[in-house]
Amino acid sequence: MATFNALLVEKQEDKSFTRSVTQRSLDDLPDGTLLIHVHYSSLNYKDALSATGNPGVSRNFPHTPGIDAAGTVVSCDDNRFKKGDEVIVTGYDLGMNTAGGFGEYIRIPSDWALAKPDGLTLREAMVIGTAGFTAGLSVQGLVENGVTPDKGDILVTGATGGVGSVAVALLAKAGFSVVACTGKKEHESFLKNLGASKVITRGELLENKERPMLKEQYAGAVDTVGGEYLAQAVKATQYGGTVTCCGLTASDDLNVSVFPFILRGVSLLGIDSVQCPMPPRERLWGKLADEWKLECLDDLTEEVTLSEVNGKIDAILKGQISGRTLVKVQN
Ligand code: NDP
Repeated sequence: MATFNALLVEKQEDKSFTRSVTQRSLDDLPDGTLLIHVHYSSLNYKDALSATGNPGVSRNFPHTPGIDAAGTVVSCDDNRFKKGDEVIVTGYDLGMNTAGGFGEYIRIPSDWALAKPDGLTLREAMVIGTAGFTAGLSVQGLVENGVTPDKGDILVTGATGGVGSVAVALLAKAGFSVVACTGKKEHESFLKNLGASKVITRGELLENKERPMLKEQYAGAVDTVGGEYLAQAVKATQYGGTVTCCGLTASDDLNVSVFPFILRGVSLLGIDSVQCPMPPRERLWGKLADEWKLECLDDLTEEVTLSEVNGKIDAILKGQISGRTLVKVQN
């Protein structure tokens, strides 16, 4: 292949950023031991930050975003994989300052990739993507901290988002009763179809936000938005419960007193998918392909092409997307 298609973000002289599907060549890709023909990627909130020039995510332009990629191996210099192997790449530097999955080819260090588990197709793997893997890490964190379905409801914030929607579905599959908090009450039936037993508005979660503690309502929570929503989740978690924290779509701030921690023994668990070491990464992907395999993956997915992903970038920044956006990269 002399050239291939990629979504290219370019920084203009007036410091604005433009995006277009452009022809790139393999010489444009960085050095690396593993060359992958990308079949699918997915849109994550971080991709939108990268595509709009957020310096906390991407500093070097022109740049191709896409923190997720699934495809087949073209060549592997260190023999970790062989030609034709199906692999998944999420996190590390992919799509940040390394050309990412919104291009038909990526070249990366081979230790960023894992062999696709048999129970998933490449397409299903990218419906899950970073968002779904992060939801998996969050649910796993609750379970490993002793939160079990008999202990009570689990709150999920940002519930219609990528991480939130997969978390709702995974928790329901694992037998938990899920209270989904959303700014899109009109999507109540979407959330109930994924397995939520109750849907509340952001306003309801923020009631009595001036109080340092709230009535014990949840055995645990998966927070994806941060700020006062995360604070309310911590304050409303019952004795011994756990709240996971992975995101900041509302705010990167957290203003909460120590009382929930020292009077109720509540745990706050940080979730990071980017540097998650390979052995637990492979174990969790194995679980997502097997006992946690979701039957509803198609119900929470919208499939777009490389040229269509452009419009979705603005929508995800405004919190307007529900579920997962799968990007079909290969023509
Ligand atoms: P999405 O944009 O798909 O979902 C975020 C959801 O948050 C929205 O759909 C909306 O849900 C809610 N939301 C948006 N804006 C606001 C707001 N101003 N106030 C309150 N709620 C809001 O993003 P993702 O699910 O892909 O990611 C969620 C967060 O998790 C991001 O901050 C992302 O960077 C982070 N993340 C972190 C990872 C890690 O490894 N730690 C990995 C993956 C993601 P609703 O309308 O239903 O309320």
